This record gives sequence, structure tokens and C-alpha cells, in this order.
Amino acid sequence: MMVQYQKIKDQYPDAFLFYRLGDFYEMFNDDAIKGSQLLELTLTNRSRNPENPVPMCGVPHKAVQNYIDILVDQGYKVAICEQMEDPRLTKGMVKREVIQLVTPGTQIDVGTQNAKSNNYLTAINYDSNQAAFGFSYADLSTGELKVAELSTSAELINELVSLQTKEAVVSGDLPNSVRETVEKLGILISHQPSLPVNSSESYLSQDVTSPLLKQVIKLMLDYIQSTQKRSLQHLKRAVVYEPSDFLELDHNSQYNLELTRNIRTGKKAGTLLWLLDQTKTAMGGRKLKQWIERPLVNRTRIEERHDAVGVLLDHYYERNQLQDELIKVYDLERLAGRIAFGSVNGRDLIQLKTSLKQVPKIKYILEQIADKSFKDMLDNLVPLDDVVATIENAIVEQPPISVTDGGVIKDGFDDQLDKYRDATKNGQKWLADLEAKERKVTGVNNLKVGFNHVFGYYIEVTKTNLDKIPADRYQRKQTLANAERFSTPELKEKEALILEAQEQSKVLEYQLFVNVRDQIKASIKQIQALADAVASVDVLQSFASVSEEYRFVKPKLTTQHKIAIKDGRHPVVEKVLGHQQYVPNDVDMGSDTSVLLITGPNMSGKSTYMRQVALGVIMNQMGCFVPAKSATLPVFDKIFTRIGAADDLISGQSTFMVEMKEANDAIENATPNSLILFDEIGRGTATYDGMALAQAIIEYVHNNIGAKTLFSTHYHELTSLDETLNRLQNVHVGATESNGELVFLHKIQPGPADKSYGIHVAKLAGLPNGLLNRANQILTGLEKKEAHGKPGNPATQPAEARESSKSGHESAANTEEQISLFPLEKVDDNQAEVVSQLK
Ligand code: ADP
Repeated sequence: MMVQYQKIKDQYPDAFLFYRLGDFYEMFNDDAIKGSQLLELTLTNRSRNPENPVPMCGVPHKAVQNYIDILVDQGYKVAICEQMEDPRLTKGMVKREVIQLVTPGTQIDVGTQNAKSNNYLTAINYDSNQAAFGFSYADLSTGELKVAELSTSAELINELVSLQTKEAVVSGDLPNSVRETVEKLGILISHQPSLPVNSSESYLSQDVTSPLLKQVIKLMLDYIQSTQKRSLQHLKRAVVYEPSDFLELDHNSQYNLELTRNIRTGKKAGTLLWLLDQTKTAMGGRKLKQWIERPLVNRTRIEERHDAVGVLLDHYYERNQLQDELIKVYDLERLAGRIAFGSVNGRDLIQLKTSLKQVPKIKYILEQIADKSFKDMLDNLVPLDDVVATIENAIVEQPPISVTDGGVIKDGFDDQLDKYRDATKNGQKWLADLEAKERKVTGVNNLKVGFNHVFGYYIEVTKTNLDKIPADRYQRKQTLANAERFSTPELKEKEALILEAQEQSKVLEYQLFVNVRDQIKASIKQIQALADAVASVDVLQSFASVSEEYRFVKPKLTTQHKIAIKDGRHPVVEKVLGHQQYVPNDVDMGSDTSVLLITGPNMSGKSTYMRQVALGVIMNQMGCFVPAKSATLPVFDKIFTRIGAADDLISGQSTFMVEMKEANDAIENATPNSLILFDEIGRGTATYDGMALAQAIIEYVHNNIGAKTLFSTHYHELTSLDETLNRLQNVHVGATESNGELVFLHKIQPGPADKSYGIHVAKLAGLPNGLLNRANQILTGLEKKEAHGKPGNPATQPAEARESSKSGHESAANTEEQISLFPLEKVDDNQAEVVSQLK
């Protein structure tokens, strides 16, 4: 056996091999040592020879799925090796084969807590001649399959991060930097040899013409085939997409804007997805996530979604009905996947039937609303009556989980099955009669007819009554502590018939079940199309519901380059703070405004304001309504952000480096139709460098790009840029002082802020009074010096003059010197202590 084991194990060196042995899956050697730790199993020894121990541990086959999930969730692969013959009928070694290799990207039974997200397997094929990537992603449980040609590694990384893939299949080599990033992201790289593509291969849709795309689809499918070893029928035809079909959002922006993952917790709570999710089905939940991650850029499609949301918003009653019906729809996409995979059971089919029966109801409600927005969905809402009928005729209402132990198929569905069942039933009756008859004949009233798996049917007589049995007819079968079990020639004959009928019945039932399943397989594509339509309806009703609950409005799309938002809100902050607490703000950037320079104290709401603009744009282009009184927006092509202090978790770079990289990314790739958010750029370095860079970036964006740009800064000096840059507008977040306390108004107002209020904020943060007094002293001193005409403000000088003078660096040095030399007056004890600590 160990020879057989080793032969198989050699083919799967990087996977745990679960080797079926009777009722257990066993692991041996290194797999057993590591597996026992990861799965908390007892490690034993197979070999009795202490010189050559064979470590071993095992899991019961009935509970194997849990153990597989634990390992795969941690990024391991598990090869499931089955017995391919019935050990009872085989002499010598049972034939064994790996029937499936479960990997992080191909895991299908992902449990209910993950029902609302996809598990994407990705494939990458790098063409070094073109320096381009063939890229594909697929969800095995839903059958989605997409491909794209990506021309930069940044695009590739964006896709990988945004899809949250756990595994990438790669043929050949990747550029080193890409490989390193992929590894840092914790994505498992699986190698698969790339085989030549045959042009007639059926999975290629007509629009796949590029060789790179063909290769990567083949790479993907070959890997799935070689790991799953079964039907790929439910995989949809590959759909080609381009990143520019969607609003481009790099992974840092997705992360910083907390679209689907909370920065602090990594969870869904506190994100845009969390706020918008009132979907009733798992498919709808997944689709919502996809729409958030890939907002549209096609005006017509965006408006179609808006219109549908508007109609549902207006039809309160129908929307409620729709929700009541949707909630009864099971995960059709994943059911279709299980049907194709052959892992479906009776209960799944009943779920399928229940879900399909909802379709006419959903359709009816949408027809009542009678709006053209639902035309495409209605076309795909086909009830599939034949599938319903097939299941209804064949499958009992409450089938068992197992499909091989009988009890799945309805009476009356198959003549032969009915005969077997009659035989079994008659057999039971015959046994009951036998018991009565034998009791009478022997006079033993507690004589019993029973059954067990080892000895079959028997007549049981307690020891005290043994003298009463007819020794000529009764043949001893088994002896227990206080009873003996017997058979009779008559019972033996009937037993064979009954057992045979039962066995045949199970075999036949399974066969009938497989037939039903295969029959339904023919409708997989329709089920998928249906699932897609239901999911869209579900997301749209969710949009309508949240729009009602949080008073979102239908945005107006404009072809002009302007943003006009009245009383806009950050929907998540508003929800957390409560509607009363939240101060709404306007955004008014006409086509003559490119840069909005936002000043105001820390903690006043600058960053919230910028985020709220980005979220409004994203919600608009997802097709959702937006949190405002009214909103007019253009369709943006890309969003770039530099917000939040977080270092780049992926590449491990410092804040300042990330800041500069993100600025560069925006400058290189933004178009006039892009949105740029820069939150306090330049803060990560010395004051004067930072300010100089900030100003140069603003000028560049203003003069050379023309993208709508929101730039927040605490460098006051920059506010005078409006004198030289005519498409720059100053706004500030209002704050006032009341009894020396700072009061945030959170209200955006025209013009620059008058003060920084940094010391006030420090006070709010609870710094000691002595320290705050000292800071005030230093500040007053600095302000005095400045008033005496010390270092000039570079912002107000023409660019050429600034370039020729080296004032930036010198001034910075001067300022630092001034601060340290600034004399300490009238020091009390408390202050002295603080100052010495500072020193
Ligand atoms: P800044 O970027 O100016 O430092 P933030 O945007 O981070 O400030 O806002 C700080 C806090 O102020 C937020 O966490 C929020 O609680 C509150 N806040 C921001 N904007 C508003 C608003 N419009 N209405 C009410 N509270 C707000």
C-alpha cells in the first residue's frame, strides 16, 4: 500500500494527499506531521518498526470537507485520493486515484458566510515580446469567465488586488517585480505548462482573436480541467473586457475609499458595500460587489440603471413584494455550478425548484411596473417550467443529504423502482407476520425478528426461553450475553430477496437521480442567464431601498465638464454619525474650475469632503442614486486618490514615497475627464520641500491636465495661488472659536481659511496645558518674525523667480534654527518639565 501511496504522492508534491482508507482519509510522513498540527489531529505511527516509523494521521470521510476547507483557507492544496473499486469485491490492492485537487482558487463549497463574494481563480500569461499580459479570471462556482489583455504590470496588480484572488495560474516566467508583488499579496502561484491552442477549441468565443487571450483562456481551462477532473460545462464562454470599459480605480483608491473593505478591520462593516447592501439573494450580493468594484463609463448604461432605480423607488408596494419573492430564491448560480460538477444532491434540486417557482412571480411584479428599464431582465427571466416539472416529478419534497442511500426519488416515477419498493414493503410485512407466527408456534412472547448489517435478518430468543425453540428448524447465527439469534430456511430465502430489492432499489435510485441531474444539465446556460437577471433586479431594488432610506437622489449626467452637488453627504459617515449630526456640503466646480484648494483646521472635515465627492462619483457610475439634494455630474474615466496616512501595505513603502508615487501615477495617467483627490500632499517631508512639491503638483495638474482636482492642504501659503492660476478656486472648512475653544462647523465656505488652528486641535487631543502654552508662545514669535518680512512666500512669486532663487531650502533651515533659538520666557515648573521632555 505504501508503494501505491508514494507513487500517487509523487505526482502531487505540493499538496496534502488525502488517501482514502476505508472510512478515513489518511495522511502519511511529512503530510501527516504538518497536517496533524494544522488540523489538530493525533499523530500516530503506521509502521510497528521503531527503526522506520511512518507518521500517520487521518480524518473521517464523512467530515472531510471541513478539514479540506481549513487547509485550503490557509493557502494549501489538497489532493483527494479515492478508492476506485469496491474493496469487498476486490482481491489484493484496491485501485486508487486522485479525483480532485482542491486549491485556494478552485474551492467551491465556500460556506454561507462567503455567499456574497466570489472566489476568483486568475491566470496570467506574460508575453515578453509585447511586454503585455494575457489575464483571465473565473469563478468555478458561478461559471463566470473573463479575459483581458493588460499592457502594464500596474494594471495587472490592480486586477489581482481588486478581484481579491487567492491563486494565480502562471505559465512560464513573470517579470521579477510582478512576481514579488504577487507573492507579497499572499497569492499562491500555481504553475501549469502552456499547451498549444487549437483554433477550433469550443470555449473560444468569436470575439477572442488575439493569440495572447486564446493562450490565457486555455491556460485557465487546462488548469481547471487538470485539478477538477470533471465537466466544465457550466463555465460561460469567455467574455473579453478592457479595464477602460469601467471607471478606473487603482487598488489604493479602492482601499482608501473603503469601498468593500474597512481599513481598520478588513471587514465589510463601515464600507460603501455595507451601506448599499440590501440585496436579498447571494447572487445579488455578489453582483453588488462587482458593480462597486467596476463602475461603468457608458452613459447610456448608467442612465438605464438610474431609470430602473427610479421606477422601483416610485413603486413602493411592488418593491416590497419583489423583496418578499427574492428572499426565497436560492443561489441559482452556485446551484448551476454544482449541477455541472455533479456534486448536486436532492436538497439542491429542491432548492432549484423552489427558486425557479419564484421566477413567474418576480416576472409578474416587474410586468406590473411595466417599464422599459426592465426589458433585458424580463427577457432573461424564463421560468424554465420543464426543469421545474422534471424535479417535481422525480424528487421527493424532503430528500436526504445522501444521494446513494435511497429515499430521493418519488413513488410512481419509475415502475421498476416501485416494484423494488413494493418488494421491500411486502418483505417488511412478511417479517412482521413471521414474528407473530413464530411467537404463536413457540409460545415465546418476547421473540423478536430483527436485522443487523453483519448477520442480516434473525429471530432472537432470550436464553431463558431457549428450551422452547424447534431445534430442527432454527439454525444458530449469533450468540449474545442473554440471547441467541437464529435463522430458518424460510427466513434465509426471504432475506435474500429483501436485501436484493433494497440494494437494487438504491442503485436504481442513484441512477435515476443522475439521469434527472443530467437532464437538468442541458439547461445550465439558461439557469445562469436567469440567475444573472435575478441578481440585477436584486441590486436595483437594493439601490432603490437605500435611496429611500437615506434620501439619495437621481443624479443628472452632463456632457459638460462640471460638478454641481447641492447638500452632498458622505453616506457612511452620515450613517455612523446620524443624519442630524451630519453637515451637508455643496460642491460647485464649473467647467472653468479645475482645482479646488481646500484649507481648514485638522479634523474639520477636509478629507471627508473629498471622499464624499469620490463616493458620489462612484455611486453615480454604478447606477445608484447619490447622497445629496441634487447632483449634476459628468462621467469620469478614472479616479486617482492620495488620501489617508496608511503606508502602502502591499509594497511596504514609506508614506512619503507612496505619496509621491501616487502623485506620479495621477500625473502620468489622468485625463481631463479624470477625478483627482490629493489629501495634504507633501506633508510627509520637511515643510518647505513639501510645500514646494505641493505647489508644483497643483500647477502641473492645473496647466497640463485639467482633470477635476480636489487638493486639501494645511500650507496656508498655497491659497494665494489663485492669483496666478485662474482655474483654481479656494474653499475652506469653517471653524470658529468660542471661549478659546475650537468649534468645527464642518461647513465648506468660499475663500481660504484664516488660521490653522493646529494648537487648538492639539488641545482637543489632550496635550498638557503647559506644552500648549509654550507652543502658542513660539507661534506668536514666529508670526512676529514673519511680519518683519522674513522668508517670502514662494507661492506668490512668479515661477521663474522661484526657480532661480534657492530660497526654499535656505528658509527651511532658517526656520528650524529660529524655532530652536526662540527664547523661553517666564517658565513655570510644569512648563520646564514639558520642555525638557521635548528636548
Ligand atoms: P480633516 O481631513 O480636515 O482632518 P476629517 O475629514 O478627517 O478631517 O474629519 C474629521 C471628523 O470630523 C470626521 O471623522 C467626522 O466625524 C467629522 N466630520 C467631517 N465632516 C463632517 C460633516 N460634514 N458633518 C459632520 N461631521 C463631520
